[in-house]
Amino acid sequence: MLKFKRILLKLSGESLMGEQQYGIDQQRLADYAEQIKEIADLGVQIGIVIGGGNIFRGLSGATKGFDRVKGDQMGMLATVINSLALNSALQSVGCKSRVLTAIRMEPIGEFYSKDRAIEVLERGEVAIFSAGTGNPYFTTDTGSSLRGIEIEADVMLKGTRVDGVYTADPEKDLTATRFEKITFDEVHQRDLKVMDLTATAMCKENNLPIIVFNMDIKGNLKKVLEGQSVGTYVYR
Ligand code: UDP
Repeated sequence: MLKFKRILLKLSGESLMGEQQYGIDQQRLADYAEQIKEIADLGVQIGIVIGGGNIFRGLSGATKGFDRVKGDQMGMLATVINSLALNSALQSVGCKSRVLTAIRMEPIGEFYSKDRAIEVLERGEVAIFSAGTGNPYFTTDTGSSLRGIEIEADVMLKGTRVDGVYTADPEKDLTATRFEKITFDEVHQRDLKVMDLTATAMCKENNLPIIVFNMDIKGNLKKVLEGQSVGTYVYR
C-alpha cells in the first residue's frame, strides 16, 4: 500500500557527482534511475527537479567575476544537462520520461506548462522539470517547491546525502540527533537547513510537506513511498 500517489522528487546536482569533484557519476545516475523506475512501476506519478551544482552555480560564479544573471542562466542550463542525463538513464532502464524546460529550447525539451506536466504524469511517464523556475536569483529548491505545488503533489521528497534533518550538522557534531518529524516553524526557529527560505516558505504557505531522506541508500525511495520511517517529515 503506497502512501503517496503523486510526488515531486528533488535531487541536488551535487549528489550526481558521487565520489567525483565535478560532473556526473554514471554509476550514481544509474542507481537513481533504478530507484525511480522501482517506484514508477508501482504506479506512482513522479515529477523530478534536479539541481545543477555539480556543474555551475550562479552565486559562486558571481564571486569569480561573472555577472550574476548570466551566472544563474549558466546554472539553469546546468540543470538541463543533468535532466537530459537522467532522462537518458531512465530510458536505459526502460522507464519512460520526458524533459520539460522552464525556458523555451525545443527540441531539447518541451516548454513547461502545468497542463502539459499533468498530461505527462497521467500518461504514466516521469516528468523531469528542468531549468529551475526559469528566473535568476532562484534555486532549484524553490523550483521544486513551485513545481510540486503546481502539479498538486502529495509531498516533496528531498533526496540528499544525509538521512534527514538533525538538531545540528551530524558530520560535525556527534551528539546531533535526527528528527522523525518537525514543523516548518520549528525549522525556522532553530535555523535548520532543510531547503532555502523561499522554498520552505512556499511549501509552508501552500501546505506541501517535505520528506528529507538519504537517496544514496538503495531502496530508500521505495521505503519512503511505503510510509516507512526513513528521513524526516517536515510539515505545517
Ligand atoms: N538557478 C536559477 N534559477 C532557478 C534555479 C536555478 O538561476 O530557478 C541557477 C542558480 O544559479 C543555481 C544553479 O542554477 O545556483 C543550480 O541550481 P542549484 O544551486 O539549486 O543546484 P543544486 O544545489 O540543487 O545542485
